[in-house]
Amino acid sequence: TITAKAIVYPGYGEPEDVLETHSYEIPSPEALKNDEVLVKTLACPLNPSDINQIQGVYPSRPPISQTSLPGLTKPVAVCGNEGVFRVLGTGPGVTSLKPGDWCIPSKVNYGTWRSHAISAEAEFLRIPNDIPLKQAATMAVNTSSAYLMLTQFEKLQKGDWFIQNGGNSQVGRCAIQIAKSLGINSISIVRDRPELQKLIDELTALGATHVITEKQNTSKEFGKTIKGWTAGRPIKLGLNCVGGPNVAGMSRKLGKNAKLVTYGGMSMKPVMLPTSLFIFKNLTAVGFWITEMTKKDPELREKVINKVLELIKENALADINCTLNKVEPEKLTDLEFTDAFKQALCDSKSNGKQLITF
Ligand code: NDP
Repeated sequence: TITAKAIVYPGYGEPEDVLETHSYEIPSPEALKNDEVLVKTLACPLNPSDINQIQGVYPSRPPISQTSLPGLTKPVAVCGNEGVFRVLGTGPGVTSLKPGDWCIPSKVNYGTWRSHAISAEAEFLRIPNDIPLKQAATMAVNTSSAYLMLTQFEKLQKGDWFIQNGGNSQVGRCAIQIAKSLGINSISIVRDRPELQKLIDELTALGATHVITEKQNTSKEFGKTIKGWTAGRPIKLGLNCVGGPNVAGMSRKLGKNAKLVTYGGMSMKPVMLPTSLFIFKNLTAVGFWITEMTKKDPELREKVINKVLELIKENALADINCTLNKVEPEKLTDLEFTDAFKQALCDSKSNGKQLITF
């Protein structure tokens, strides 16, 4: 038998208050039944939406139930929506996976913050096992979202422009690179910081056409510089994950009949838009939620994953910018295992995206 560990919560609240570890025995690969697949987690990211699920404020959440894991004495939910697994063993009826393969959850709310899992074959989607680990662990949410937002709302042609805030977010970085591979120009808004030039250089190296600060974004004067860059070509698409006054400034740069797509609210402030943009520029403001889009069209999820895999193969996506936190569950007590996740969550507030690797 293998002793597995999972990060769970018995009720909603702040992660530091409600997260705990559940240790449980899972059978050895030889004991697997029919369509069962035993996987070991290789890496899982800590995403903003994972935190919102734990807080109970995210509309799509795993059920807090007694049955999702063996050996439970109370109902819990397992944290985490994405991650990459390696197959350790398969039941006799499994056809799409074999030991050594890599796979990702085929649906949302799987509960990826765990060392091992056993599920039916249909719960997993095989991916190549020779792609960078960080790419594999984050492709289903952030990379896929960036691809969908750039392709599902406006028919952008080569040479067209889009603008985004949160340019340094993982989604933003993916959008920069995907746009570049599609021949689309980008303007990315980032927060000012002591080493701003370093960030600008980094994003430019990824393929950003231009990177501007939030201050430049809200300056009327700077608008002229941007008009110079685009040479009168209208900016057709805006991607917003920040909210607040930032969005008004960004939307003013959009052309006639443009689309503003809101997919996050990192500033926790409402989206504020000038009335004139709706009347005189016929602005359309819509929302994007990958969970809903891929639920409505399940084939789209697989299509996007395949598209992202192509981009990875073509080296169109640089390795993901994030910190790896290695945990060795077999050497840790439950308390230490929980603390490793809590520490990484804390780091994700100020030190960028954190990934747990096993
Ligand atoms: P990351 O953790 O990689 O990055 C978060 C970014 O937000 C950082 O670039 C950070 O800026 C910026 N930020 C944080 N606070 C503020 C603030 N007050 N004002 C301006 N910028 C701020 O995030 P992800 O790429 O994983 O996700 C980005 C957003 O996209 C999140 O809101 C997430 O929930 C959302 N999302 C939504 C999806 C959907 O389907 N709707 C799918 C995927 C993601 P800095 O670099 O300066 O620290």
